[in-house]
Amino acid sequence: MKALVYQGPGKCAWENKPRPTIQEPSDAIVRVTTSTICGTDLHILKGDLSSVTDGRILGHEGSESPDSKVMVKRCLPSLPTRFL
Ligand SMILES: [Zn+2]
Repeated sequence: MKALVYQGPGKCAWENKPRPTIQEPSDAIVRVTTSTICGTDLHILKGDLSSVTDGRILGHEGSESPDSKVMVKRCLPSLPTRFL
């Protein structure tokens, strides 16, 4: 699958990345149908966030639907949920 990857200040590129897998019982795989970049991503691209290193995948705001192979039975607000 393609991902927009930060490659240092002012640089990013589309790279092939492996498809995610379920690692914890609380994980869910969702199919992102639309994604965008936001102000945070623009700051990352400028190099303003020193904690973000090369290789970080950008575009954390997406519109998605659960993968047809995964049935999410319930979400508990007290438990962290990772979307892969
Ligand atoms: Zn954002």
